[in-house]
Amino acid sequence: MPAANVHGDGLHLQLSGADVNFLAATCRMPGIIVLAAAAPFRAIFVDEFPDSLRPRAIYIAGETGHAWAASMVCPCGCGDMIQLNLLPQVRPCWQVETHEDGTVSIAPSVWRQQGCRSHFFVRRGRIDWC
Ligand SMILES: [Zn+2]
Repeated sequence: MPAANVHGDGLHLQLSGADVNFLAATCRMPGIIVLAAAAPFRAIFVDEFPDSLRPRAIYIAGETGHAWAASMVCPCGCGDMIQLNLLPQVRPCWQVETHEDGTVSIAPSVWRQQGCRSHFFVRRGRIDWC
């Protein structure tokens, strides 16, 4: 069945691509190789955070200009959900900037105090590890 084989190969390639994207920003731990950067993180505006978050997306809750929190899946691949407070009167507090191409920058850096302890910047949707 040549046609079925071709179809199967195409599907396999697509799945491999998705896996590579998900692993693109691997933790800088000994023995783990950081793969080339994949698709940038883009903003998704929501009223409330969904139960499960898509990888390579930064969810921003609240109205434009009045966002109160951001959420993302940890880019190291550990699968943990990271939530960032955006309200200036609450510490710690981050600023999220969305760009015309839909990518996101976050300042200051994100430094997890629990779990994988990842420390990284998000600049125009790219993860810069510290
Ligand atoms: Zn992590």
